Amino acid sequence: MSPIRRCHVCGTHFRPSPDRRHGRIDCRNTTGPDVTLPTTAFVCADCRPEVVDLTRHWEPRDPSADACSFCAEPTDGTGRIDLASIVDDRVVSQGTYLLCRHCEDVFETFLADLHTGLEFPDAWSHTPAPGGAVFDREGDLRVTTTAPTAPESRLRLLDDGDPIVEAITEGAPRERAREFVTAFEAFDAEGGADPRRIGNAVVEGNPHLRSAQD
Ligand SMILES: [Zn+2]
Ligand SMILES: [Zn+2]
Repeated sequence: MSPIRRCHVCGTHFRPSPDRRHGRIDCRNTTGPDVTLPTTAFVCADCRPEVVDLTRHWEPRDPSADACSFCAEPTDGTGRIDLASIVDDRVVSQGTYLLCRHCEDVFETFLADLHTGLEFPDAWSHTPAPGGAVFDREGDLRVTTTAPTAPESRLRLLDDGDPIVEAITEGAPRERAREFVTAFEAFDAEGGADPRRIGNAVVEGNPHLRSAQD
């Protein structure tokens, strides 16, 4: 099963396809101390043109250059964004772009305006717990995380109490669990699919999850 990815723009979940081109945004670093750009985010084939509309005038730069990719003003060389076009799971084109403080702000606002929050699925409930997050789906499935203070954060999918998928999480484990549950539910609608396979595809598609079963 190919990885399940979430579109940063419209919030839908999709699988890479050989027929359609989706995008990836990697923010390597920023010049502004409080600029929030995604470290890695995907954009689905339907939303990709909106991002391309904005970024088509950016000039690719060598990472050591010191001029903004958009306005060509000198930068202090620390704001860097990598953009890639992906068909199936293959990068077909990519570029490195440097942004000055001002253009970085413009890009941040642009993405924030497009971005849709996670729509948490009805079938799942969240039980606050001091030792870590617990998410339950009626009857069978449960997702748990380690406590925020654990030396290594992990997420587990349990089927009737048996762990069937386990992943190492990067960033806030509760947020990762919400993303996992939402992506899982988006694809479980296919009916009768093996929860282990769906769970593994969700882990593979989320840049902030890594399988703990390798
Ligand atoms: Zn989209
Ligand atoms: Zn600029």
